[in-house]
Amino acid sequence: MDAERAGNVAQDTATALREAGLRATRPRALILELFREMRGHHSADGLVAQLNERGHRLPRASVYGVVEALTRGGLLSIAHAGSGRTLYELTTVPHSHFLCVTCGELTDVVCTSSSIPCADDTSVPGRVLEAQVIFRGICRDCDET
Ligand SMILES: [Zn+2]
Ligand SMILES: [Zn+2]
Repeated sequence: MDAERAGNVAQDTATALREAGLRATRPRALILELFREMRGHHSADGLVAQLNERGHRLPRASVYGVVEALTRGGLLSIAHAGSGRTLYELTTVPHSHFLCVTCGELTDVVCTSSSIPCADDTSVPGRVLEAQVIFRGICRDCDET
């Protein structure tokens, strides 16, 4: 991907990538900026489509490679949706997710207590690095109709 390295990467994006221990390649910068613009949770395939719409034709394989690198660097986190899809989001404060079983929308749920139900780490056979709760239900929009 060295050939993709370009000088037209925004300074703050380049800095963020370097601070994450990643070289500031154009595909990495494009995808990081896309997350900043769109917010929310996105699959690698969704990103390919969004990039296409904006006139950036990146091969699927390189988009997968970029989200992996950004996740390794701590810039993106995986939002577990429990539905087989791997969704990525910008790394923010730890939070849980609400998955609407009707429309599939994944929404952030702020942790209001430091102890999440069902995440009692005394019963875990190892050292916990992260715990996420998935609330499954019907969102307000779907519930109204
Ligand atoms: Zn819904
Ligand atoms: Zn989230």
